[in-house]
Amino acid sequence: MFEALRTIRRHLRAKQTPEYRAHVAAERDKWEGYALQQASMPVDATVSDVDIDAAEAAIRRAMGSMDMTALLPEPSEFVKRTICAACGGGKELPSVRPMLYCDFCGQVTDYDLKQAMAEAYSHPDVATFARVGNRLRPAAMAAGRAGDVDTFRALTHTLMEAQAAWTPWTVPPRAYNDDAYRQRWVTYQTELAVLTTFDATHAALQDRVIGLTQKLRWTGGNLAAMGLQAMTGRTPGERTRPRVVAETFWPLVDVLLQQAERTRVLLDGSAVRTLDPDAMPGVVADRLFRSGLAQGWLPSLDPADGEVLVERLQLDHAYQRPTATGERRHCTGCGYDLTVLEGATTVVCDACGRRIDVGGPAIVCVGCNDRVALPEGEASASCPSCNALVRRV
Ligand SMILES: [Zn+2]
Ligand SMILES: [Zn+2]
Ligand SMILES: [Zn+2]
Repeated sequence: MFEALRTIRRHLRAKQTPEYRAHVAAERDKWEGYALQQASMPVDATVSDVDIDAAEAAIRRAMGSMDMTALLPEPSEFVKRTICAACGGGKELPSVRPMLYCDFCGQVTDYDLKQAMAEAYSHPDVATFARVGNRLRPAAMAAGRAGDVDTFRALTHTLMEAQAAWTPWTVPPRAYNDDAYRQRWVTYQTELAVLTTFDATHAALQDRVIGLTQKLRWTGGNLAAMGLQAMTGRTPGERTRPRVVAETFWPLVDVLLQQAERTRVLLDGSAVRTLDPDAMPGVVADRLFRSGLAQGWLPSLDPADGEVLVERLQLDHAYQRPTATGERRHCTGCGYDLTVLEGATTVVCDACGRRIDVGGPAIVCVGCNDRVALPEGEASASCPSCNALVRRV
């Protein structure tokens, strides 16, 4: 019982040394530095002023030096009940990140709202990405309005790369270390944006979204205190966060759902769907969209209104305590303690996001007898415990 949970807890506790916290702080300072470089671009940047190559180079440097295990959130005490659309396996291990991958085959199965909320609060460092976005997004929108597909595509591509670099908790963990995956994810998101931005029906719905967002009424809170907290990297507290007046919010939800439906129709008739690096079935993509919508708005709603939203979006909150026990193997990609269930062939490492082969017996290190598992496509690696070379058997 609870073996998987204890393993994760132990892993997290071992990391909470003063040295480790200093390391995490230094990493954040470095990303902030890159963002400030970007922020030195003129505020009224036009398309020709924005140096996409320089922006991409800075983002790649930031990506290369990032330690993703530093951003590993606390695991949930519960398992979200969900069934894999690819292999039919049930989720048995507790959620560590919001994006849930099948414990048996590694496919995306669901999005854990509970864990997403915890993760969003633990990483308030969104100001850096906002600075980059504030330079590039208006230029991209102008290109969209002008019907300039090529410029829109190029700027959106850079924005997506920036998102992957500075708000990693908003992108799938598989993008952290798998460069090919990350490029496919950026390309897919970019082409999806091109598909919807240049569709008249979707664009008209987007105008309504903007109009309704501007008409939202807010109550309570303290914006000055919230701004101060954001600038000092703290999460806005319960009392400083304003609440949205629900009657002004429900019309926005209606239009957002219409927009999602339009996106689904567009994808069904387009080759863009084939670019999805997760090859997600429509039903899974829809579940992820609804969970994301709820995650974004729940902190700004009264708890009672939040319950209405969760019900309206048909997000089941069936959670259970984990009971599965498995075999432990260290990920050679990052050293994380993986729990491998009987019958599993592939899992996605919660810490580094790599797809790991776990089919067949464990590979045992000749140096220290540690049980390890290798990322897909890798024939050998260093043992995370003793550095000895380990090979596939
Ligand atoms: Zn599966
Ligand atoms: Zn790993
Ligand atoms: Zn070893």
